[in-house]
Amino acid sequence: MRKVLKFGGSSVANSERIETVLELVRSSMSAAQVQAVVVSAFRGDTDGLIELSHLAAQGDESYRDKIGALEARYLEVLRHFVPATDQSGALLQLKLSFNELEDILNGISLVGEVSKRLLDKVMSFGELLSALIISECAKARGIDCEFLDARHIIRTDSNFGAARVDFGATDSQIAAYFETHRLLQLTTGFIAADGHGDTTTLGRGGSDYTASILGAALQVDEIEIWTDVDGMMTADPRKVRKSFPQLWVSYSEALELSHFGAKVIHPPSIQPALVRSVPVRILNTFNPDFPGTLISRHAHKPSALVTGVSSIPDIALLRVQGSGMVGVAGISMRLFGALARANISVILISQASSEHTICLAVRPEEAQKAREAINSEFALEIGASLIEEAIVETELSVISVVGENMQKTPGIAGKIFGALGKNGVNVVAIAQGSSELNISAVTSSADEVKALNALHEELFFPDTKAVNVFLAGTGLIGTALLRQIQEHRQHLSEKMGHEVRVLGIANSRKMVTDESGIPLDHWQKLLKEGCPKNGLQDFVAELKRLNLPSSVFVDCTASEEVAAAYEGLLKSSISVVTPNKRAQCGPYEYYVRLKQASSKRGVQLLFETSVGAGLPVISTLNDLLKSGDSIVSIEAVLSGTLSYIFHSFGPGKPFSEVVLSAKQAGYTEPDPRDDLNGLDVARKMLILAREAGCQMEMTAVEVENLISAECRAAKSVEEFFLRLKELDGYFEDRRRRAAEVGRKLCYIARLASGRVNVALKEIDSSHPFYGLSGSENIISFTTKRYSNRPLVVKGPGAGAEVTAAGVFADILRLAS
Ligand code: ADP
Ligand code: ASP
Ligand code: MG
Repeated sequence: MRKVLKFGGSSVANSERIETVLELVRSSMSAAQVQAVVVSAFRGDTDGLIELSHLAAQGDESYRDKIGALEARYLEVLRHFVPATDQSGALLQLKLSFNELEDILNGISLVGEVSKRLLDKVMSFGELLSALIISECAKARGIDCEFLDARHIIRTDSNFGAARVDFGATDSQIAAYFETHRLLQLTTGFIAADGHGDTTTLGRGGSDYTASILGAALQVDEIEIWTDVDGMMTADPRKVRKSFPQLWVSYSEALELSHFGAKVIHPPSIQPALVRSVPVRILNTFNPDFPGTLISRHAHKPSALVTGVSSIPDIALLRVQGSGMVGVAGISMRLFGALARANISVILISQASSEHTICLAVRPEEAQKAREAINSEFALEIGASLIEEAIVETELSVISVVGENMQKTPGIAGKIFGALGKNGVNVVAIAQGSSELNISAVTSSADEVKALNALHEELFFPDTKAVNVFLAGTGLIGTALLRQIQEHRQHLSEKMGHEVRVLGIANSRKMVTDESGIPLDHWQKLLKEGCPKNGLQDFVAELKRLNLPSSVFVDCTASEEVAAAYEGLLKSSISVVTPNKRAQCGPYEYYVRLKQASSKRGVQLLFETSVGAGLPVISTLNDLLKSGDSIVSIEAVLSGTLSYIFHSFGPGKPFSEVVLSAKQAGYTEPDPRDDLNGLDVARKMLILAREAGCQMEMTAVEVENLISAECRAAKSVEEFFLRLKELDGYFEDRRRRAAEVGRKLCYIARLASGRVNVALKEIDSSHPFYGLSGSENIISFTTKRYSNRPLVVKGPGAGAEVTAAGVFADILRLAS
C-alpha cells in the first residue's frame, strides 16, 4: 500500500507534537510505503508571517524583534532533536533563510506596502522552515528521508494568494522527481511556483491541497490528512458541542461541507483525489487509534439523511433587482461574467422564480469590488431605471446542510426551516443546489452558532429534546429546582430523550454561566465565586450573547424587575418559565404584549406554578378552552395560608392567636397582612380570569381585605398583632353565626360573568369546599360541559418542593 501523509499546523506546533508526528510516520512506514509527508507551517506561523509583513509595510520596527522570536522557535526544536555535533548544516540553512526573510521585510518596510507576490514569498518561509527542520528531526530519529521544496514540483499560474495549479506541468514534474528520488520526501505544503519561478501559495489551508495533488499524481492508495480532530465531523466542534465524526463521507459531500466552511479540509483538495479516485482519510494526531473519516467515491453510509452542517461566519450579500430583469435572457450571464472578470468568487446564488431579484454571497472584503463590477456592467439599465444599483448587506453568515441522502427526500427543508424559525433565526436568503446535496440559508452573523446548534439538534438528534436553562433566583424554589434537575436528569435523558442543561444561574448579587453546563453538585460554590452582577440586565445580556437554541429563562424570584424583562426575552426567542405572578397580573396591556411576543416568536411563557403551585390549574383551564368548552364560573380557594387559618379557627381560640400560631408554624408571609389583605388570592384569580379571556385590570377585582384600616396602618408586625386582637370579637361573631346554621368560613375567589370577587364566605356541607383540610387549595371549574358537577382540582397549593416540581414540569413541556 502506498500513501501520502499530511500533518497540519495543529500537529506541528512544538517539539512534543513533532515527536508524536515522527512516531506516526515511523509506524506508517512499517505498514505501508509512505512516499511523501507534507507538512504545514508550525501552528500560527502563517498568521505570524502575515503580521510581520503588515508591520513592516506600516513602518513598525517591531517586526525585527518578532523575526527573532520566530527563529528561536525553530532553534529550540532543532536542539531538542538534533545532537549539537550534527546541527551545523541546518543552522546554516536557518541563518540563510532568516537573512533572506529579513531582507524581504526590510524591502517591504522601505516601499511601505506589501504586494500579493511578496506576501506569498514571506508566507512561504513558514512551510519551508517547518519542512526543513522536521526533515532534520526525522533524520535524527533514524527516519530515512529527504527535504523537498514543493516549488520544484508544483506549478501554478501567477494568481498570488490563491494560485491555480497547472496539472499538466505539475503531474509530470512530480512523476519525474519521484522517479529519481526514491526516499521518503518530507515536503512543504501550501507553496508552489509560477512559470517565472516566483513563489505562489495555494490559498489559506492549502497544505491539504498539496497532499492531494501529490497523492493523485503518484496514484497512491490513500492520502492521510492528520489534524487535531477525529475526522470530518457533523459540525465544527468548536461551535457545536455535540458534533461527532462521520466514518464515511463522499467526495461530493466533503467538497460541499468544506466549501461551506468546514475548515478541516481545504475545498480544492478534494478535486485531484476525486479525479483519480484516491481515497482521503482524515485522522487525529491526538487520537491516532481512531479510524477517522474516509472520503471516497461511494460513501458506505447507513441511512442518515444528513452528513453535516457547516457555516461561513462572515459573508456579504449582494442583491440585484429590477423589473428589467424579468424574462430577459442573458442577465445572469452578464452578471456572473462581470464578477468573474473582476476575479470575485461567488459563494452562493439564489434567484426568485419571478426573476425579479438575484442574490449572491461573496466574501465581505470583495463586496465593494463586486458592487462596482455589477453597477458598471448594468450602467445602461440602471440609468434607464430598469435595474437598481446593487445593494450590499453585511454581517451575514451562510449555514449549509449537506447530505447525499437528502436527495428526493421530502420534508428536509421543512425540518431545517422549522428548526430555524422555532429558535428565532431569521432567514435572509435560501439556496438549494439542484443536486439537492446542499441546502443553504443566509442568516445574521449573530445567529450563526445558534442556527448551527438548532439544526444539528434537529437533524442528528431528532429524538432528543434539549433545553438550556438559565435560572434567576436561588431561594427555596430555585434551589429545590436545581436539586430536582440534578436528580432526574439522567433518567429523563435515558427514558424520555429530554436533555435538561443548566447553563446559567444568578441571584441578586452574582451570576455564573457555562456553555457546557454548570455542574449541579456544587453550583452554590461556583455561584459564590461567579461574577458580581450589577443588575438583571447583565445576566440577560449574557444569555442573549450566548444565543443558544432552546434557551429558557426560569424566573424563581418574586421580583417586578425580573418580570419586566420577559418581553425582551420572548422577543429574542427565549421561552420563560416562572412561578412569579408579577407579569401576568400587572397591567393588562403588558400581559397581552407578552402573549403576542411569544406567539410571534414561537416560544412560550409558562407560569403554571403562579396559581396553585404545582397543581395543574392553568393547563386544565387551557385544555378546557382549547377543546371548545367555555367557562361559566371558576370558584377557588387559592391561599393555603388562609385555608389553614380558617380551618384552625374553632370555638375557644381567638382569631389573632390562630394567625400568630400560623405565623410561628411558618405558614404565613413574614408579615401576615400580606396574606390577610387578600391581594395574593386576587392576583391568582386575575391570572385565571385573563387566561379565561377576560380583559381585566387588578383594580377591577373586588377584594375583601380581612383586616381593618388600623391593622393595615400598624408600623410593625408586633403592633399589627396588638391591633388584630381588636378584631377577635368580629371574627368570633362571624364564625359563631355561621356555625349555628352548620356553616364554615372560607375565603373564596370567584369568577363569573366577567367579574372577579374575593371574599370571606359561609359555606354549608353541600359545598365542594366544605371538606377541604389543612392548607389545601381547590379550584372548581363550572363550564358548559361540566355544568352539573364542576371539574375540581385539589391538593397542596404551596411549598418549595411542589412548586419547583411544577416549574420543572413546565420546563419539560418546552422540551416536548
Ligand atoms: P490543520 O492545521 O491540521 O490543517 P485546521 O485548523 O486547518 O487543521 O482544521 C482542523 C479544524 O477544523 C478543527 O480543529 C475544527 O475546529 C475545524 N472544523 C471546522 N468544521 C469541521 C468539521 N465539520 N469537522 C471537523 N473539523 C472541523
Ligand atoms: N500554513 C498555511 C495556512 O496557515 C497552510 C495550511 O496550514 O494548510 O494557511
Ligand atoms: Mg488546515
